[in-house]
Amino acid sequence: MKNDFTFDLTRPAKEKISEQEILNELEKVACHFNYEYFRRRDFDDIANIHSATVERFYKGSWSKAIQMLEIYLQNKNIEFNGKKRTQRNTSEKDIFQEMERIWLKLGHRPSRSEWVSSEPKMSYDTVYRHFGGWINACRRFVEYKTGTEIKDEEIQSEKGHPKRLSRKKLAKRNDRSRSVSLNVRMKVLNRDNFRCVICGRSPATDLECKLHVDHIIPFSRGGDNTEDNLQTLCEKCNLGKSNDIY
Ligand SMILES: [Zn+2]
Repeated sequence: MKNDFTFDLTRPAKEKISEQEILNELEKVACHFNYEYFRRRDFDDIANIHSATVERFYKGSWSKAIQMLEIYLQNKNIEFNGKKRTQRNTSEKDIFQEMERIWLKLGHRPSRSEWVSSEPKMSYDTVYRHFGGWINACRRFVEYKTGTEIKDEEIQSEKGHPKRLSRKKLAKRNDRSRSVSLNVRMKVLNRDNFRCVICGRSPATDLECKLHVDHIIPFSRGGDNTEDNLQTLCEKCNLGKSNDIY
């Protein structure tokens, strides 16, 4: 009886794939990852060709493929960060450090594009994924720096990037609610060196310390949400203050 399951020992003609096709696929994946380094299995999730094909083309080296991609994109004036992320699991502290660096450099809450163009140690997607959203990441960061939880109603007006809102709109927003935006909060905290302006305590050196951004002229008495009317107080001094005045 004839065996139907003969193995063809001659290899099928090698699929001819051009370097251009490979680079196109690499570029597509790079774009997906905000032009940050990606691994083989990240590539395989998205590309139409297998990473093994790419590796084979570049003599079995993935880093060579990444390097060629970097050069290819450079020629197209596209910035690609081909540096391998050394830590697979970025710690929250690392993210907060980067957040602080970039936020203080910009002077406002970073947008997606500002984050990407600030040569961050971790990608926008990493931060977004870790905190389940960008605003949430910014909020957790301010909470980390102050040791104080921010309630939902305190940041209700946080939609839209503050930089893109006109002065009029910002003023209107301030009229509407006593909530202080993350942006203004950070400016006040940074101006006051993340310390209580009365006793000088800081969550960085005192784990018990919780900082609040406090209205100097109370909101209920017409005080607004501008930096001039805001100060950093620890919980204790904040309570003491209201006892003294009222
Ligand atoms: Zn204090």
